[in-house]
Amino acid sequence: MSENCLFCKIAAGAIPAKKLFEDDDFLAFHDINPAAPVHILLIPKKHVQSLQTISPEDSVWLGKMLAMAPALAAQAGCRPGPEGGFRVVLNNGLDGGQEINHLHMHILGGPRPWADRAAVAA
Ligand code: 5GP
Ligand code: ZN
Repeated sequence: MSENCLFCKIAAGAIPAKKLFEDDDFLAFHDINPAAPVHILLIPKKHVQSLQTISPEDSVWLGKMLAMAPALAAQAGCRPGPEGGFRVVLNNGLDGGQEINHLHMHILGGPRPWADRAAVAA
C-alpha cells in the first residue's frame, strides 16, 4: 500500500467503490465517471505505478489481468461476439493520460455512442 494513493485506499476498503470482482490479488470496480455504458477499472491490489515500472517477472500477473478482461466485461453487461465486445485501455504517465498513479486497466463497452473521451483515453 502506498500512502496517498487513491486506488490503494480503494483496494484496502478505506474508500468505497462499486465492486464487480475481488480476489486476493485483484479488484475490479466501476469507474466513478464512466466514459461508456460499461466502464470498469481492474487493478492489482499491490501498488504498481504503471507499465513504466514493471519488469519481466511481472508478466505472469499482467497476463492474468489481461485474461480476466473478457469475463469481467461480460459480467458487467458487454455483449458477446463480434457485434458486441469491449475496449481495454492502459494509460501510463502524464503523456499517456494517466491521472491515478496506480496501474489500472480500463474495460469499456456497451452500445455506442460512447463519450468522446473514450475514443483515445478514458
Ligand atoms: P486514468 O486517467 O488515470 O487512466 O484513469 C483514472 C480513472 O479513475 C478515471 O476514469 C476516473 O474517472 C477514475 N476515478 C477517479 N477517482 C475515482 C474514484 O474515487 N472512484 C472510482 N471508482 N473511480 C475513480
Ligand atoms: Zn496504489
